[in-house]
Amino acid sequence: MVIVHTATTELQKERENEKASVGFVPTMGNLHQGHISLLREALAHNSVVYFSIFVNPKQFGPKEDFNRYPRTLEDDLQLIRKMNEEFPSAKIVVYAPASPDEVFPEGYNQKVEVPGLSGILEGAIRPGHFEGVATVVHRLFEIVKPREAYFGLKDYQQFLVIRQMVKDLNLPIKITGMPIIRDHDGLALSSRNQYLNREERQEALTISRILNEIKQMIDGKKANLVKAQEYIREVLKDSRWNYLELLDGDSLSQDLTRAKKITLLGVFQLRTTRLLDNTQMEIA
Ligand code: AMP
Repeated sequence: MVIVHTATTELQKERENEKASVGFVPTMGNLHQGHISLLREALAHNSVVYFSIFVNPKQFGPKEDFNRYPRTLEDDLQLIRKMNEEFPSAKIVVYAPASPDEVFPEGYNQKVEVPGLSGILEGAIRPGHFEGVATVVHRLFEIVKPREAYFGLKDYQQFLVIRQMVKDLNLPIKITGMPIIRDHDGLALSSRNQYLNREERQEALTISRILNEIKQMIDGKKANLVKAQEYIREVLKDSRWNYLELLDGDSLSQDLTRAKKITLLGVFQLRTTRLLDNTQMEIA
């Protein structure tokens, strides 16, 4: 069964009558197999899954792509209904607010900050972005009251920000991170890939190629960290990279001396499209 609500009051009524605990997948829509992998995992562990489709204005800067962000609700619902066929006894409740006022009614003043993690990397380039993300996810948690929520590791910093928010606010919600789903040629799936023209789509393959090269240099071979850092300095001479950094996978600190796992985070920009990708490495 798939139920769609565009009004928050209706969704809340539905939620109040829910007997089972709820799994939750928040998205901005324009669904691809990355989003669907989160839904599949949620359905594998919960008989009731809430799935939100909301392009959150608070996480876009004034010069960013809020207005042109792809909105494809009918196609999205088709993909969701197809997933329901895989899990015929499940109940999927889609929350697709008709307007931002449904989520943030007039007078809603709450802001959620996650100091530290929010100010670096993506947060430094996009001031206010993670406050917007944390604020909407917190608000959606308040409405949906899930037991467990699913996020993609594709947006690794976002995943860490949400995990930290849940810890700081002591919310009784389990946060699960899911692996990056890629196209057949390695490019991480993203709604923003469709902004790329044919040449840019080719150029975009640089990201996963470089990430893989560095991962292979380091995986299990801590001694190669210095060599990898040198290689990264070379790579960064290509100005299409916004950043490419080896970081502590838990704190995103540049100090790797106590890191249990290392993450390599990169953003590659083609015209105005910023493509995020990352990979995780063991260093033991
Ligand atoms: P978005 O709609 O871009 O806000 O993404 C909604 C959720 O889907 C976030 O938790 C993302 O990290 C996740 N996601 C987006 N792309 C991918 C991908 N290629 N693989 C796995 N998860 C993804």
